[in-house]
Amino acid sequence: MRLLIGTSWKMNLSATEASQYCRTLLPLVEDVMDRELFVLPPFTSIWAAREVLAGSRIAWGAQAVHPEDCGAHTGDISAPMLADLGCTYVEVGHSERRRDYGETDEWVAAQVLAIHRWGMKAIVCVGELEPAPINDVRKWLGRQLQALSAADPKRLVIAYEPVWAIGVGAAAADPSWVGEVQGTIHEWVQSNVGSDATVPVIYGGSVDSSSAEGILAQPSVNGLFVGRSALDPVEFARIAHVNARGVQSGREASAPAARTSG
Ligand code: PEP
Repeated sequence: MRLLIGTSWKMNLSATEASQYCRTLLPLVEDVMDRELFVLPPFTSIWAAREVLAGSRIAWGAQAVHPEDCGAHTGDISAPMLADLGCTYVEVGHSERRRDYGETDEWVAAQVLAIHRWGMKAIVCVGELEPAPINDVRKWLGRQLQALSAADPKRLVIAYEPVWAIGVGAAAADPSWVGEVQGTIHEWVQSNVGSDATVPVIYGGSVDSSSAEGILAQPSVNGLFVGRSALDPVEFARIAHVNARGVQSGREASAPAARTSG
């Protein structure tokens, strides 16, 4: 399985800034052949990313979606709208959506089905709120993962994002912890969704170019989901090249940093 390394920009980067970001990023990662890369702009910037990234090896996608295809849902965006913009990935279940909009596991399950209906891949975020013993974390994740029992394993990515490791002031989880938890997620997938081999489990939470290598050294880690540090395309390019299990992709990235805010 190729490593999957992507970023959600959250509520950052206007269409103009997204375009500039992608223009800066593209040449920095053109030598990354052995990893899959993606960016998830806010809805209003997806078209701008597409304009620059179409025909490249970098995929793009969205950070949320309504489970229904159309109708009276003011302010929402549907899966066919995202498919029409060429999105490959749609993120669901992020802890900020669960916190700010009360999104539940049932809602996430319905979003995943909508994403599949329109031929896209769902990136489903799961993770415990606070540091806790492994058995408690297993139970918590087991409840969140139940929402995926009907998911298509070929169009599913699971992002392990411990909420305590996300955002300003937090630090990435210890690699051995990530390795252990993600091992249990793989086991859950094998018993409940089917073919473990086709479902990548990626880690997100304060990843940067200095923490990435240790996390990628864990056999159960199939990639990285990066937030604020990837708002700088140069740093995202560094992470895309990072040494993973003895293999460094392409050459070292180097270029001036672009203006962004975390
Ligand atoms: C996230 O919220 O998904 C995330 C990974 O953010 P950060 O890297 O900024 O902690």
